Amino acid sequence: MKYFYTLLACLLFSVNIWAQDQHPFYATMALHHAEALVKDAPNDIEILSTYRNEAAVLMTPTGSHKLHDRILTHGPGYIFRNSKEEAITSIQNPPTKTARNARAALDFTITEDVTVIPTLALIQTQNIADHIIELENYGTRYHNRASGTQAAIDLKEKWEAMAASYGRTDVSVRLYEHTNTEMPSVILTITGAEFPDEYVITGGHLDSTSNQGNNNAPGADDDASGIATITEATRALFEIDFVPKRTIEVMAYAAEEIGLVGSNEIASEYAANNINVVAVSQFDMTLFNGSSNDVSFITDFTSGELTSYMMSLLDHYNTSEPHQVTYSTSVCNYGCSDHASWTGQGYMAAFPFEANFGQHNSNIHSTGDVFSLTNTATHATKFAKLCAEFLIEVAKNDNTALAVNDVIAPSIFITIQDGVLSYDFTAAQKEITGIHLHDIRGKEVMVVTNVSERDQITTPVLSTGVYIASFTTEDTNSSTIAKKLIVSN
Ligand SMILES: [Zn+2]
Repeated sequence: MKYFYTLLACLLFSVNIWAQDQHPFYATMALHHAEALVKDAPNDIEILSTYRNEAAVLMTPTGSHKLHDRILTHGPGYIFRNSKEEAITSIQNPPTKTARNARAALDFTITEDVTVIPTLALIQTQNIADHIIELENYGTRYHNRASGTQAAIDLKEKWEAMAASYGRTDVSVRLYEHTNTEMPSVILTITGAEFPDEYVITGGHLDSTSNQGNNNAPGADDDASGIATITEATRALFEIDFVPKRTIEVMAYAAEEIGLVGSNEIASEYAANNINVVAVSQFDMTLFNGSSNDVSFITDFTSGELTSYMMSLLDHYNTSEPHQVTYSTSVCNYGCSDHASWTGQGYMAAFPFEANFGQHNSNIHSTGDVFSLTNTATHATKFAKLCAEFLIEVAKNDNTALAVNDVIAPSIFITIQDGVLSYDFTAAQKEITGIHLHDIRGKEVMVVTNVSERDQITTPVLSTGVYIASFTTEDTNSSTIAKKLIVSN
């Protein structure tokens, strides 16, 4: 009996998958694209219903490929729907955004300088490059290839190992199994210390596609770059021991390229369960520097409020080198990436893209989407910085050690470089009685007593990270002056 049900379940499951590979499926898309496709390929698309500028359709896979060919698109250009009813309702009854935003209550403040600024210095371009190449080496991450599923399983392990290497017990990683693809999505969760029920989400898609056959779909820019970008931003958060007040989720979506299948199922489930998602950012293509500005914020199917907040993050943190990032705006297209799944459920989503639309990497969705085309992840690094700023500023810092203020009197000089702690309190006319050096978790790594007001002290060997140097002064109230220092190797 059990065997029978398993068999039945397998059969139903494979019919579902098969449905999208061989048979017509339901979708929604821009009305003008649907109408054009009806003229080009009348046997491959049927318009079921229209509402304003959207259409609910029944379409063959051939039709979806023709849609790709005829419109200059990133992403699939349509959103997969489970049924005729779902396709029609999704265009006619979009969720009320005001209802969800009222619950979300993002205050759009920028308050975390003391955490963000040292984090930016920790983001490593080489880590992003290495991860892109690692993902490219699967050959294909197409959603129904074994290597696509393997990439998800391996990413889960990579993220778990990354969290463990920084001793994070507040982090979990899970595979999210889907109804309409064999490939799971991967979700890393950092539980919020103060507001665990408020979610801050960043994501990109793990799957790839190629119009030259999906056995060779390296997908370096689209979208290994996005996965590598959000991974490095998250690693930098771990390195600085960032503990968020709100829950952070980092998502690698499955099956974006066949109609936002992975993100759509996740966003629908979150909405159905009334999960309070405060803000969502999408990183899909960060590798190719095709425009005069660095970041192009996509303005269609995104939240204007959240987009302008992300711009103000760049205005605040990225106006000069070594962290300078310039930006402008652009429009993408219908169903152009996973942000549309969240927007469609009434959540606030933003999408910083690699270039103005049309100036982006023209090799995507082909065998030519390889890392060697650009051969550097410098451009992606800017997006990793923006991602870290977004996560820290929206989730907010709960770690009091990180709240140590970097800004001390300009007359005081404290620095750490090449294993030497240098300081000078002479101009401030302060007598120093002792120095304590702690790592970010509060572990004492050096204590010095009987010190002078100016010295250079060789430290023990320190691993990369953030340290707090505390100087005890001989004031009447014997106060402590603390400074956060970054050790990079
Ligand atoms: Zn993409």
